[in-house]
Amino acid sequence: MSKVHLIESPFPLSSVKGLGPKRLAVLNELNIQTIEDLVLYFPVRYEDNTVVDLNQAEDQSVVTVVGEVYSTPTVAFFGRNKSKLTVHLLVNNIAVKAIFFNQPYLKKKIQLNDLVTIKGKWNRRKQEINGNRMYFSAEEQGETHLEPVYRIKEGIKQKPLRDMIRQVLDEVTIEEWLSEDLRNKYKLEPLADTIRTLHYAPDKTELLRARRTYAFTELFMFELRMQWLNRLEKTSDEAIEIDYDIERVKAFIASLPFELTDAQKQSVNEIFRDLKSPIRMHRLLQGDVGSGKTVVAAICMYALKTAGYQSALMVPTEILAEQHAESLSELFGDTMNIALLTGSVKGKKRALLLEQLEAGEIDCVIGTHALIQDDVIFNNVGLVITDEQHRFGVNQRQLLREKGAMTNVLFMTATPIPRTLAISVFGEMDVSSIKQLPKGRKPIITSWAKHEAYEEVLTQMTSELRKGRQTYVICPLIESSEHLEDVQNVVELYGAMQAYYGESRVGLLHGKMTSEEKDDVMQRFSDHDIDILVSTTVVEVGVNVPNATFMMIYDADRFGLSTLHQLRGRVGRSEHQSYCVLIASPKTETGIERMNIMTETNDGFELSERDLEMRGPGDFFGVKQSGLPDFLVANVVEDYKMLEVARDEAGELIQSGQFFTDEYATLRSFIEDNLLYTSFD
Ligand code: ADP
Ligand code: MG
Repeated sequence: MSKVHLIESPFPLSSVKGLGPKRLAVLNELNIQTIEDLVLYFPVRYEDNTVVDLNQAEDQSVVTVVGEVYSTPTVAFFGRNKSKLTVHLLVNNIAVKAIFFNQPYLKKKIQLNDLVTIKGKWNRRKQEINGNRMYFSAEEQGETHLEPVYRIKEGIKQKPLRDMIRQVLDEVTIEEWLSEDLRNKYKLEPLADTIRTLHYAPDKTELLRARRTYAFTELFMFELRMQWLNRLEKTSDEAIEIDYDIERVKAFIASLPFELTDAQKQSVNEIFRDLKSPIRMHRLLQGDVGSGKTVVAAICMYALKTAGYQSALMVPTEILAEQHAESLSELFGDTMNIALLTGSVKGKKRALLLEQLEAGEIDCVIGTHALIQDDVIFNNVGLVITDEQHRFGVNQRQLLREKGAMTNVLFMTATPIPRTLAISVFGEMDVSSIKQLPKGRKPIITSWAKHEAYEEVLTQMTSELRKGRQTYVICPLIESSEHLEDVQNVVELYGAMQAYYGESRVGLLHGKMTSEEKDDVMQRFSDHDIDILVSTTVVEVGVNVPNATFMMIYDADRFGLSTLHQLRGRVGRSEHQSYCVLIASPKTETGIERMNIMTETNDGFELSERDLEMRGPGDFFGVKQSGLPDFLVANVVEDYKMLEVARDEAGELIQSGQFFTDEYATLRSFIEDNLLYTSFD
């Protein structure tokens, strides 16, 4: 059966009128490869060109008005190539002076007594419009009053792109995916109209309606796909029963340098029950940073080995993979043969590793995305664990799971996911929580200081350094970018730290460094060859240096709560008192609220709940981290309620079995074929 598309076109992209090879190349750069891509290339915003009555217009607002020309325009030249055109108009009975800078050619086009439409900024006191556009006909202004504005690049301008999309929209057929019942129930428009309206909205009301329909469609399709997948997994859920040797596992636990917390014990029990059962494990293990999830994972991996199975642990970054490999090999000693597989493992070394993995000589493999490449073949993998799972897309996790047909899956996360969202994203799964820190840990003391109090914070840091402790200085970005000019440049901050703490050894870590450089710095920090580590958020996940007891987060209001909490978790990893100081001068209510929440609680679960209350689920994870795809129109924060509705409706369709009838055959193959709604990077 041929591939099912949302949009069927009688011709390919290359035969669109006005699209030569040059422009085609530009479109490709904008990720437009097909007609479908072009049709779904929605405007990033709309310019409102609705003509207004100037008597009602707000001072200093941008207005579009129609006026009658009653003076011959004059042009004054000044400077080098600069000019100012002045023309007097009568607009809604107001005598208005319109000025246009650097558009002298307009003079020839403006005739006395003509009606012209102009757009510009209204200055009521001076009775003046500082014009930026002048339209001479309705056609030029466009039929629509909301002018679509697309993201463009050099080589293609707004107007030709708009024309092309219009031409294509006239020719294509657009499938309808939502049933009439569903559309009636939620007052949704047909998809074909919706897509057209998103490009050419006659007014804001229509635009909002179109947005709503499209967002719902995306979320609904996503939910169908997720829930279908979950159902397939559940029904084909015969898993290998892991017949571990409980005595050996007990001996391993006894050999650990500490006693498990009650919460850890309980999680281990829950996981072990799943492992033994003939139903595939699909479990989330959540626990705050430092709660000891890794040890729980280690115990499970060990149990797998006693049953004769391999296990895999996938983590989002190389640094983290290496740290895990190191701490696990310490825990396992020579009882397990563990391997590290990351992007830096190449050539002969990699080939040998893959060979051993396939032969079953490796008991457990720890790695990054490198684990899901096609040529990575396991001998008999019985357990797949992903750490910080919210960082992986659904597709990646699925790929890893497919490495072993009946593999048990454990997701670990330090970002507590509100249950409602977890279900939306991952479907039903069992949850184990470690809501308890190991004995002897002192809660981190978090404080918030404005930028003015920076010096005092430095003094505080000095006293930690004098005690022989190490510190983190975290800074939001690596380079000063245009949009965040005031963000402290990490390199600059590094310089400042070197200058201020002449006697301390200062290290620098950021994302633009190669992984060898990063590893080297981390290793030196870990070995206490570095006292102060100035870093961007690359240290965020899982890094473990217990001697570090102080963290200063610069411009903390630039980070979401989740990131702040993750960052803070790098300290407080020993019996010493740890501190986290947030330096921020937030200007918004939410910014202030966020700082306050951080100082009030150390509990990630509470943080996530409070954040959810404040703003919906998106901010806590950052949409990117939520495991949700990038939707074209839907926004999981703003459309959270809609996501819940879509989830319920999709669930209904699947559970009732209706989804598996002939009526839905096309939709099913569409969902199978298209990752349209799940564009993970
Ligand atoms: P997480 O992955 O949940 O952030 P880790 O597993 O990295 O936490 O554990 C943090 C630190 O606590 C590690 O150094 C680990 O060895 C230690 N640890 C774990 N469990 C215990 C425990 N029950 N008692 C004491 N220390 C523990
Ligand atoms: Mg961890």
